[in-house]
Amino acid sequence: MMTKKVSYLEEGSNTFKYAEVNAFSKVCPYCDLGVDVVSREGYLIEDTLQILFICPRNECRQAFIGVYKKILVKDPIKPVDYVLVRTEPQIKYIKKDIDTRIMSISPVFATIFSEAGEAEALNLENIAGMGYRKSLEFLIKDYLISKNIEDRENIERKSLGQCINQDIDNPNIKSMAARAAWLGNDETHYSRKHASMSIIDLKLLIEATQYWILMELIKDEYQSKLPNAR
Ligand SMILES: [Zn+2]
Repeated sequence: MMTKKVSYLEEGSNTFKYAEVNAFSKVCPYCDLGVDVVSREGYLIEDTLQILFICPRNECRQAFIGVYKKILVKDPIKPVDYVLVRTEPQIKYIKKDIDTRIMSISPVFATIFSEAGEAEALNLENIAGMGYRKSLEFLIKDYLISKNIEDRENIERKSLGQCINQDIDNPNIKSMAARAAWLGNDETHYSRKHASMSIIDLKLLIEATQYWILMELIKDEYQSKLPNAR
């Protein structure tokens, strides 16, 4: 087994030291995808070494920490000083219902949508409603940016409504996203316009938006993998 060399600072010292660790994290806790991380500096407090990692995926780039414990009796064949015990943060909400294709264009949508689901499960309806509304904005903007990366600044600057009206070409995505946005606005504004609609309707419309985006991603993927349908 290959060991990995890391540099770290010890509490109270300004000089970097080096240590061998058994492994780096293989999964980013934010996008929940396998990643090949590069370590940044570590910090040693007593026998716990914390190493900073950055997710290498451009769509994510989140920082997380690998927590290592000191090995008391070194194995001469595998001379590591520290072993990985966990990564932080530990993202506990389940994102498994969201397709990896959606996660790859908008990991932040997956995170916020899952957080809103947690809040809903705890009957925190106001928080859940605002969370769903926010997740929709990330889904739509990241979807549009994934289609046209040069337009990133322009899309980031626009309101959600402007993005839906001006930039979405697919009529199915547009139709569901527009309705989700109308209901979503109720969650962030002082007075409700759609009193008969609930958070369940909002969630369903966001899910429908997500599925239409997914269908488009799958269509694009297979039209490029199998250009001739015969
Ligand atoms: Zn990531």
